[in-house]
Amino acid sequence: MTLPLSHPALSATDPELAALVGAEEQLQADTLRLIPSENYVSQAVLEASGTVLQNKYSEGYAGRRYYEGQQNIDQVERLATDRAKALFGADHANVQPYSGSPANLAVYLAFAEPGDTVMGMALPMGGHLTHGWGVSATGKWFRGVQYGVRHDTGLIDFDEVRDLALKERPKLIFCGGTAVPRTIDFAAFGEIAREAGAVLVADVAHIAGLIAGGAHPSPVPHADVVSTTTHKTLRGPRGAMLMSREEHAKAIDKAVFPGLQGGPHNQTTAAIAVALHEAAQPSFRDYAHAVVANARALAEALLARGFELVSGGTDNHLILMDLTPKDVPGKVAAKALDRAGIVVNYNTVPYDPRKPFDPSGVRIGTPSLTSRGLTAAHMPTVAEWIDRGVTAARTSDEDALAAIRAEVADLMGAFPAPGLPTD
Ligand SMILES: *Cc1c(COP(=O)(O)O)cnc(C)c1O
Repeated sequence: MTLPLSHPALSATDPELAALVGAEEQLQADTLRLIPSENYVSQAVLEASGTVLQNKYSEGYAGRRYYEGQQNIDQVERLATDRAKALFGADHANVQPYSGSPANLAVYLAFAEPGDTVMGMALPMGGHLTHGWGVSATGKWFRGVQYGVRHDTGLIDFDEVRDLALKERPKLIFCGGTAVPRTIDFAAFGEIAREAGAVLVADVAHIAGLIAGGAHPSPVPHADVVSTTTHKTLRGPRGAMLMSREEHAKAIDKAVFPGLQGGPHNQTTAAIAVALHEAAQPSFRDYAHAVVANARALAEALLARGFELVSGGTDNHLILMDLTPKDVPGKVAAKALDRAGIVVNYNTVPYDPRKPFDPSGVRIGTPSLTSRGLTAAHMPTVAEWIDRGVTAARTSDEDALAAIRAEVADLMGAFPAPGLPTD
């Protein structure tokens, strides 16, 4: 199905760029997008993020600005922070961080000094770069100590986390990650952080939408600070939020501005407010539960086809496959699947014997396909495409990949995506 051309002003001014946007719209319409950190935002979120709010400078916070003319902007920011607090049940919310990584850096600035010890899940075990990993500023300027998952279960060993925390006495403990297919036990982390005298930061970037929709337990009763992006399962614009107990509100706000950033991106703040409004509707609860139901159904169908899944399955939106038994490196499989119209990312698996740029695994997830309305009944077909694609990757069968691509485009044509142009 060919999408109609849109963006008339952009097309008139810069046809070259407009053509690229049009091509991306077509790609997002035709393909099965399985990257678990991606989604489709609504038309309302897209419109809010493309407004003249972006013309305004607003250093400071609502009611305490360094620039005049904030009559509307202050109200926009208050809407966003009030909605965040109501949706997550938090005392305090800061919606200004430019993205997830700067949000986490602000947490370091609020609670630690350079050289202090911090603790997080190791990147190759499913953690995030900004949880103290060596190549990140957070691992260069702070002393990162890292926990992992057990080799036999693929799950966090809380005895190991407690021993490490009591031995190293970190200022900050991060929980959450980018390749964690199981429920995060915030209560267990909270207990360990209190014992060790550390600030617990729950980084729920991946699962914020599941939490908002009641499909994953909330970190708010257990964590001192909750950090999240707004653009993954929460289905908002690219941005981030920090939420905290009241006692930490001042430290967080000072760290974001003036500690780390200048003017907030007001058009993004507006779009976050819209996304939070959408996430407070009953239909979003249905969405969050459908994301998890789809991931479970997809995991079962993959297991039935002999795929090896880290931790044996999933509790959330994400599945991490170890392709070693299929005899195909993750990168080869990811690139072949891309040619088949199935967009995934290659990923390390815990204890991966291969290198990070050429690892053993592939990471997939169901937020995007659920936004298009696919249900558990479609997941056996998705698993079959993945299976055929991985086999075609091993045998270098380009015809098989092209055949899958046509089947994918055919099904996706029947499930128009939010935010993409329609007739
Ligand atoms: C995505 C993610 C981030 C970083 O977000 P960016 O917006 O890409 O900077 C941080 N932490 C976790 C756990 C994430 O999944």
